[in-house]
Amino acid sequence: MRPYATRPFGSNRPAAARRVSTVTRRRFLASLALIGGGAALWPAATWANPGAAPELPTPFALPARELDRAGVLREVTSVVSRQAREVGAPTTYAARVGPIAERVDFLHPFQFLVTSYFERDPARRDALLAAYAREPAAAIRELGPAFPSPRAEMILNTLAYYDVSADRIRVNLGRITPDDAARVLVHEFWHALPDLRTWKGEDGATLRTTGFWTQRLTSEQGIWQPLDDTDGLPHPAYLLNEAMATQMEVRYAGPTKFKRPDLDGANGYLARLSETAGSADVMEAYLRSRPGELHELAEQHQAARVDAGALPRT
Ligand SMILES: [Zn+2]
Repeated sequence: MRPYATRPFGSNRPAAARRVSTVTRRRFLASLALIGGGAALWPAATWANPGAAPELPTPFALPARELDRAGVLREVTSVVSRQAREVGAPTTYAARVGPIAERVDFLHPFQFLVTSYFERDPARRDALLAAYAREPAAAIRELGPAFPSPRAEMILNTLAYYDVSADRIRVNLGRITPDDAARVLVHEFWHALPDLRTWKGEDGATLRTTGFWTQRLTSEQGIWQPLDDTDGLPHPAYLLNEAMATQMEVRYAGPTKFKRPDLDGANGYLARLSETAGSADVMEAYLRSRPGELHELAEQHQAARVDAGALPRT
């Protein structure tokens, strides 16, 4: 899915700074979405076994408390499979949860930064990852203008995201804690669960939809660009996806620590639609990546939209 960070940044900063952060963060998330159209080949050898935590300066250091990765993945796999059954998802989706767990990368902060920052420059990415495996401190110096930079700060503050192109969940070991790892991964698993549906538009353009969110492949640059078109839905599709994942995270672990007022509209809309049309139908439209079906459900249950005050502008 569209790769989402799971948490707002700088929750302990003053409100004004936080607002700026949110705007920039949105841009960053959009940039994460613009992942290259080519298959993202992953240099397995350089990250599979990063070895002991090197003693590195913040923000590249690893926290003292180590994460029980296998334990967390077991827990999340069991939770998400159970949730999929509970919400009436077609059975194929529960079977998909185990394989998703095999596509989770726990990355040192440096690896997390480089993987995201140099997504569209695989040669540079691989060279830096190889350098990090040899001598971490020297590799950090090789980052050049990439670090420090506002974008690097954004990335390093992110706990985890789902990379649609690579079909992998990336976890930042520098930020995730043993206490929040399972809830963050439940959220990301729900981003990873829907079908990735690739199709041709009327003008011959290649499009892909995951959940309710559609991107278009630009022919010149081979970049996936999010479509502004909301498919007739009253909320941006990426917010609807975010609301779906957050809803399942909250179902598992209770309310999030950080307020997400940006999700209020999408949450309310989905909740009302689930009440009137049935939550299994809403979930199925999400998992099958059919935003048009969500739209149809909404049309059939006009009442939900009137309540939501979300009638289309004329
Ligand atoms: Zn998310």
